[in-house]
Amino acid sequence: MVGIEIDYSEVEKRLGVSRRTFLKFCTGVAASLGLSTHAAVAMANAVADPKRRPPVIWLHGQECTGPTEALLRSEQPSLEHLILDLISLDYHQTLDAGAGHQVEDIKKKSMLENKGKYLLVIEGAIPVKDNGIYCKIAGETMLDLTHEAAANAAAIVAYGSCASWGGVQSASPNPTGATGAPQVLKDKTVVTIPGCPPNPANFIGTVLYFVTYGKLPPIDDKGRPRWAYGRLIHENCYRRPHFDAGRFAKEFGDEGHQKGYCLYKLGCKGPETYNNCPSLEYNNVGGGVWPIGVGHPCFGCSEGGVGFEKPMFSLADVKTHTPPNMFPAIETREASGTLTAGAAALAGAAVGAAIGATAMGAKKLDEKEGKQE
Ligand code: SF4
Repeated sequence: MVGIEIDYSEVEKRLGVSRRTFLKFCTGVAASLGLSTHAAVAMANAVADPKRRPPVIWLHGQECTGPTEALLRSEQPSLEHLILDLISLDYHQTLDAGAGHQVEDIKKKSMLENKGKYLLVIEGAIPVKDNGIYCKIAGETMLDLTHEAAANAAAIVAYGSCASWGGVQSASPNPTGATGAPQVLKDKTVVTIPGCPPNPANFIGTVLYFVTYGKLPPIDDKGRPRWAYGRLIHENCYRRPHFDAGRFAKEFGDEGHQKGYCLYKLGCKGPETYNNCPSLEYNNVGGGVWPIGVGHPCFGCSEGGVGFEKPMFSLADVKTHTPPNMFPAIETREASGTLTAGAAALAGAAVGAAIGATAMGAKKLDEKEGKQE
């Protein structure tokens, strides 16, 4: 970060965060995205430049407003400061101070003046049955509003599971024909940030990438940014050593549950759900605040076809049977009373990280020398 020309006093004033917090945040986002420190500098420059704030049109369909609520409740740095100052939020049905014709006129004016430049964020499902009459805003259907706003957007983000594929509204029997933005906007690229609620860090990282590079990050076949949804929860779960060792909680509150064993037999969908919950957790408080961390099985909220579709009691389709090589073999020493199962799992994860780093280093060296296994 040394030597870059950023007016931090102005940034501190505008974003309501300290210089240290601001730089830490940009570096953290760049690291999460798998980018170098140069990218962190580029992001810091982009955020610091008020002229680079993209106008944002934010639509709400069928939903509980959970994604916006999650975003507003983020702390350290306060993401609502960052999001409201990082972008120019021209229209947001929940946060707009104005109402009625006034805000609708502002939206139309902004879309006209910023043709091809604005970022469209869609939150909530879009009902398509009976020409979309089951969700109307200002007399127009969400279906029509989505097509209208998407026509001249620079980029489109579906934020939350409902916008990504329909979410809970689209669960059988789906009486309103609820579906997601990618299914409605078939001829457009829609980046999806699923989750119920989605992790706000995944949204802010994607927006920061857009602000910095003028394009959206690489995505998978479901439109999810690879940097955030590239791995199964099961791959990074701290209970994974218990899964590999065959130690499971079988009922809520039983001995295995109390000892922090694997939740697979309670219906955990971590083995078939892609998300970075184990790494980021929720609410910025640390200490294992995410569903599996507090003893609840993952229900696959970010995986279309799993979350809201597959019953909680169904066992997950295990996609990775072989333990990752970063996990050491677990030999519990409970019998001798020197190490609890939970401590074994934690120790396993910590030692595994070191072993994993060494193994990856060795693999890279082998590849370099043309000796790939
Ligand atoms: S099944 Fe669930 S609790 Fe068990 S290791 Fe996998 S993700 Fe974690």
